[in-house]
Amino acid sequence: MSQPLPSRIGDAAALLLGQHTVRCPHPGCTVRIRYRAVTADEAKRLTALATDHTRHGPEQQST
Ligand SMILES: [Zn+2]
Repeated sequence: MSQPLPSRIGDAAALLLGQHTVRCPHPGCTVRIRYRAVTADEAKRLTALATDHTRHGPEQQST
């Protein structure tokens, strides 16, 4: 009786550990930030950074 744990268990464990992954909503952008055990302010800052595509676009246009 040694069945491998479903990956869902790992996700649940990550949630219990307070681990989060924030991905950029921009189509085609693969930027994502994973964090855990951070303060609320830090989590807010990281979330803002991950979802603000202008901060990590592949090409920065200086217009
Ligand atoms: Zn992005």
